[in-house]
Amino acid sequence: MTTRLDAGEHSDLVKSVVVVTSRDIEPEHQVERVSQLLDGVVAAGFDELLNQQTAIWADRWATSDVVIDGDDAAQQGIRFNISQLFMTYYGDDPRLNVGPKGFTGEKYGGATYWDTEAYIVPMYLAVTKPEVTHALLQYRHDQLPGAFHNAQQQNLAGALYPMVTFNGIEAHNEWEITFEEIHRNAAIAFAIYQYTAYTGDDTYVNTDGIEVLVAIARFWADRVHFSQNAGKYMIHGVTGPNEYENNVNNNWYTNTMASWVLEYTLERLPKANGAVLAKLAVSDDEQAHWQDIIDRMYFPTDEKRGIFVQHDTFLDKDLRPAASIPADQRPINQHWSWDRILRSPFIKQADVLQGIYFLNNRFTMAQKEANFDFYEPMTVHESSLSASIHAILAAELGKVDKAVELYARTARLDLDNYNNDTDDGLHITSMSGSWLAIVQGFAGMRYNDTQLSFKPFLPSTWTHYAFKMNYRGRVLAIDVADTTTIKLVAGEPITVLVNDKPVRLEVEA
Ligand code: BGC
Repeated sequence: MTTRLDAGEHSDLVKSVVVVTSRDIEPEHQVERVSQLLDGVVAAGFDELLNQQTAIWADRWATSDVVIDGDDAAQQGIRFNISQLFMTYYGDDPRLNVGPKGFTGEKYGGATYWDTEAYIVPMYLAVTKPEVTHALLQYRHDQLPGAFHNAQQQNLAGALYPMVTFNGIEAHNEWEITFEEIHRNAAIAFAIYQYTAYTGDDTYVNTDGIEVLVAIARFWADRVHFSQNAGKYMIHGVTGPNEYENNVNNNWYTNTMASWVLEYTLERLPKANGAVLAKLAVSDDEQAHWQDIIDRMYFPTDEKRGIFVQHDTFLDKDLRPAASIPADQRPINQHWSWDRILRSPFIKQADVLQGIYFLNNRFTMAQKEANFDFYEPMTVHESSLSASIHAILAAELGKVDKAVELYARTARLDLDNYNNDTDDGLHITSMSGSWLAIVQGFAGMRYNDTQLSFKPFLPSTWTHYAFKMNYRGRVLAIDVADTTTIKLVAGEPITVLVNDKPVRLEVEA
């Protein structure tokens, strides 16, 4: 098309683009389908499409926006992250998942990681409708055949969910990840627990969910071995969440989460759907064996320091704080040889602390504090997933400045290029960490099967923050300034705990 404009005149050019892929439309039908879609787009016109887009986003922001007063950088960080997350994934198609770089960079190839269950699920549960998170759980159930295949490849029973995947089959090709970073299997099960406890809806766990749980439990029951020497079950030859060590024995996190999976599966079995249970055929002997593993699992601990030990030989390392690393050698993954990193005591991301974060209500404050004080100083936070977990635990322990510092790091990781790697693409799966740091960290939100609770504080540089949450058919609005106000915006009355005191909420007339 050509057009001639005289001085002062203008012309608008609207380009309409439609994309189809062979995932949805067979190649021979693509041209026909594209032209149908394009006709629809052109008929609707730009203004109508803009209105539709605006309405969709207004709806998304209505329950997800976080307002921060007093710190523009913090406000910008959280809004940037929420918008990037929702542009990447909104649960429309259970065949899809969230790649660590979303659509912003080629690193990680768009594949699915444990990041989804560990970091995306806990946020999406609260800021989207349950169907969105349900689609993420469904994705894993649909990929069970691939997970069975992965376990078989290792001569193991049950299902091993992949560290990196597109279709359920492991796509990573380094032995220390593919064969050793098996802790990811527990996160898949933990997401089922989180979904069930948060939504109160047990239909998934009683049907498709129990199939996933039993398959993962069977993997762990086969992957442990019994040490006659110690009279304990152990898990050797693993890589924990801290990828700066490989092939370690008895990674506390892995042993703890493996045992937890067996426990949760045993707890859910009697409530599961009868037909599914018949198909799964978990015998009494098998259940007794799982219970024996739970009862006699080995968890490395150091009584003197009052800590859980990252793995069998961790304490024999040259233990030093990360502050002892010269600034011009950080991040160490861009300056040190792999050999040097692996022998060092420096921790890439939450490992023991990841377990304390997940199974938070099982540990005393003293245990949390001792472990945080021991591990955090050695942690270099060179995974984008690290800062948020530490921010949440620091907040719980009243280490307010540390919590705020780590929040800033997770919220503005890409805006400020903290890890000097934003040119690889944005850290999409860790963006949820900034929301978790505010809601689970600063506002102290926790839940179990029956109770939602908050323990809020206001960072000293902020004057106020507010956010909303979907919870079991309700919408709650939480507003934290010098005092905290929690309102029920929609739904049935509910009693929540605020600083351990019950507060009954009803929608205001
Ligand atoms: C982290 C993994 C994570 C992956 C993708 C790695 O750097 O250590 O835990 O799954 O990045 O985000």
